[in-house]
Amino acid sequence: MRKLSIVLVLATISLVYVSTSSLGEPAYLPEFGRFVILIHDVSPGYAEQLREITAIINGYNLQNRTYLFVIPDHGGGERLRDHPEFEALLENLSSEGYHIGLHGYDHIGREFDCSRGEAERRLDMGLRELGNAGFIPEYFLPPRYALSGEALRVLLSRNLTVIGEDFVYFPNGTAEPILNREYTWYLSRFLLNYRLESAQSSYENTRGTFFLSVHPKAVNSGAGLEFLREFLNYVRKTGLG
Ligand SMILES: [Zn+2]
Repeated sequence: MRKLSIVLVLATISLVYVSTSSLGEPAYLPEFGRFVILIHDVSPGYAEQLREITAIINGYNLQNRTYLFVIPDHGGGERLRDHPEFEALLENLSSEGYHIGLHGYDHIGREFDCSRGEAERRLDMGLRELGNAGFIPEYFLPPRYALSGEALRVLLSRNLTVIGEDFVYFPNGTAEPILNREYTWYLSRFLLNYRLESAQSSYENTRGTFFLSVHPKAVNSGAGLEFLREFLNYVRKTGLG
């Protein structure tokens, strides 16, 4: 049994390798378009920060470009069902066009760098909690981007598209390289212009899909929200085509 799973993991890895080895640069993924915002760690403790972030995104009409990755039980003591006001906030955002995705179960350690059985258990708990709130996610972002081959296969077999740090994995077994960047991890005012220039030049120089990762609290500190406003303004002007 163990031998078989090792063979399967190797087969998965080589499939991923074959499908991407000919591509030197990030792919344009029609399902996502030119520009995507990934909001990590969406959970009741960050409701206020999430409201601030989405107010800015609404200002540039990028709701349907934005994926909210929800932790169903952040830290093991923050279940969605115990926070109906937060479920209502997610419901509102979803009705405005935001996509609701799954970001692990409790986000403790490298929770999805695990065996197949453990991945199934955690995934089931996460899907139950989101389902209870009225959502059936199509996308999964592994906490800390930590993912075992077995966990990846479990997720894909449940028809989830998995967004990693450098690749997107589709349920049909293909994988594509992506450009996924975060510029607002407690960004100081001193670095604001440098980061903006660097982000704009990356956006300009890639023909692929550009994934902008954002963490609540980190982006709400220092010059983070200013970066977000300026960069979204730039993206809108430059075009999403
Ligand atoms: Zn996270």
